[in-house]
Amino acid sequence: MASEQHLPLAGRRAVVTGAGRGIGRSIALALAEAGADVAVTARTVSEIEQLAAQIQAMGRRSFFTPCDVTSAEQVQQMAQTLLQHLGGIDILVNNAGNAGSHKLLDHPDELWHRMLAINLTSVYYVSKAFLPPLIEQKYGRIITIASIASRVGGRYIAAYTAAKHGVLGLTRAMAVELNPYNITVNAICPGYVDTPMTDDSISNISARTSMPPEKARAFLAQTSPQNRLIEPEEVAAAAVFLALDSSKGITGQAINIDGGGIMS
Ligand code: NDP
Repeated sequence: MASEQHLPLAGRRAVVTGAGRGIGRSIALALAEAGADVAVTARTVSEIEQLAAQIQAMGRRSFFTPCDVTSAEQVQQMAQTLLQHLGGIDILVNNAGNAGSHKLLDHPDELWHRMLAINLTSVYYVSKAFLPPLIEQKYGRIITIASIASRVGGRYIAAYTAAKHGVLGLTRAMAVELNPYNITVNAICPGYVDTPMTDDSISNISARTSMPPEKARAFLAQTSPQNRLIEPEEVAAAAVFLALDSSKGITGQAINIDGGGIMS
């Protein structure tokens, strides 16, 4: 086993948004496992507090601060706090997000604005807040959890799909602009992942169609050619890969993790 200082991300400082549960939690733990110090944020204090303690128990520095990433002011404050605690940042993971669905005909405007705020504008706010130190040190890794909904249209998820498509545009624009500063910017596009968010989708399908939850779960699994939900750890492994120094040539890319459903 590699000694601590030979871990691939030893000495690197990471921030993960939406780290309280699901994919973000797995990414935070995987980054720590790879040697990074990891600061975590989300709105539910008990979840990020517990996670930070778990990361500290692994021998890494870890900090938590609550933040609603749809608020520019809260994001500024969160960035200031975590930059102070960590003493800087090398890796930013934009993971916080949420899915909501509705058919288009009587789509509530509130849902449209909420989906864009949490899935797209938040990535803009958070990335912008952490850019100054990354540019200053001429090093950085920005990784955003997009979605297969960034790649193709989906029925009843117009707002989520539009926001997640937007995230890829933002990723590519940032990649071009930040290339001179040795900052890579990439996205990961998972299919259905086994997380609390997918549990919510299963409950919604069940409630709307009176399909039993196990059937709704199987229905979502069948959207993958591998007939299964992706595990959060699979997304986390891709995030760690993109965070490595040796991934410096990979930027402006979007990696699908969907069991081969989409091959472009
Ligand atoms: P979960 O709902 O399981 O977890 C989401 C995390 O984001 C929680 O920690 C939540 O904490 C946090 N969060 C939500 N809203 C906000 C907010 N306004 N401000 C700050 N933090 C917030 O989601 P997943 O782990 O499933 O999803 C993570 C990311 O992956 C999302 O961007 C999602 O779109 C994407 N994704 C998920 C897929 C899936 O099938 N699950 C598939 C493809 C992409 P709190 O509520 O305490 O703030």
